[in-house]
Amino acid sequence: MKKFRHIYIEEEILNHPKTISILEKNPNSQKIIIKNYKTFFNRANQNFQIQKQDMKLILAKKKDNFLYDGSDFSNNFGNKNFYYNTLILNCVYNCEYCYLQGMFNSGNIVIFVNIEDFFSSTKLKLNDDMFLCISYETDLLAFEELTGFVREWILFSYDFSNLKIELRTKSNLFNQISDLKPNPNFILAWTLSPEIVIKLHEEKTPTLNRRIESIQEAIKLGWSVRICLDPILHFENWKFEYTNLIKIIFEKIEIDKLLDISIGTFRINKDFLKKMKKLRPDSKILHYPFQLENEATYKKTKKDEILFELKQILIQKFSEEKIYLS
Ligand code: SF4
Repeated sequence: MKKFRHIYIEEEILNHPKTISILEKNPNSQKIIIKNYKTFFNRANQNFQIQKQDMKLILAKKKDNFLYDGSDFSNNFGNKNFYYNTLILNCVYNCEYCYLQGMFNSGNIVIFVNIEDFFSSTKLKLNDDMFLCISYETDLLAFEELTGFVREWILFSYDFSNLKIELRTKSNLFNQISDLKPNPNFILAWTLSPEIVIKLHEEKTPTLNRRIESIQEAIKLGWSVRICLDPILHFENWKFEYTNLIKIIFEKIEIDKLLDISIGTFRINKDFLKKMKKLRPDSKILHYPFQLENEATYKKTKKDEILFELKQILIQKFSEEKIYLS
C-alpha cells in the first residue's frame, strides 16, 4: 500500500508494538509527535477532498466507545445484538458517494493502534450472541499490509462461537489472510458494483474482476462469503448495468456456495449529504432529487422498483431466503 509522507503519532502510544510496526513499514516518513489526534482530525475548516489527495496518517489511542450499536442504515441480517467498531477512521479509496466525506472534517487517516482494548471490550459484551461489523468508517482489508488488523480479528474469532463478524470490503487483498483457517462465523462481505460505476464513482478501488478473483479464492478455501450489491445507484442505464453485473456474478462465482446476497439502494444521512454536495458540486449522484425524510433516499416507488427488478433476476438462480433487502 502507499507510503505516507507524514505520520502524526500520539505521544502516549509511541512505544506501542503496532505503532512500531507501522513506522517500520514507512521508514522515510516525517514523524510528528502530538498530544491528541482530535486536535488535528476534528479541526473545523479542513477540506476533506484536498486532504484526500495527500493523506496524512495519524496513529492514536482510542480511549472509549470500542463498540457502537449497529446503525439504522445497515442490515443486521436477522442477527440480534448488532454492533460495529471503528479501528480506523477514513479509507484509502475515495468513492464519490462515501458518507465519510459528510461525517468527518478531515480526509486524513486515523489508525487506533490499541486493538487489545477493542478485544477486551468485545469479550466483556460476549455473554450473549453478537454480530459485529469491523469494517465501518473504513475498508479494513485495504489496510491489511500496514496494520494486520483483519488477521488479528480472525485469530480472536476462533475462540468465540457466539461471535459473528462481518468484514465489508471492496479490496482484492484476500491473499493477505488466505493462509488462515476459515471460520464459518467470520463473514467476508464483498461489495460489487458494475464496472462503469467502479470506473466513474469508486475512485482508487480494485476493478470488478480483481474483486471477483478474491471472492473466487475465498470460496475455494471454504470461507463464508457475502456479496453486497449496495449501494445501488440510480442512473440512466441502471437496469442494464446491474443486470449485467448479476450475469457476471452468476458466470464467475459458485453462487450455491455463497452465504447470502444483500441488495440496497443508495441512502444517506441528510446532514452528511448537505456537506458532501458542497464538496462535490458536479456530482450527479449526490445532487439527485432525493426524497428527504429521516434519510435522503430515492422515492419509494423508484426504490421498490430497483429492488424488485434485481431480486427477480437473482432468484432465477439464487435462493430467495438468502437475499436480504435494505
Ligand atoms: S470503500 Fe467504503 S469506506 Fe472506502 S471510500 Fe468507498 S464507500 Fe467509503
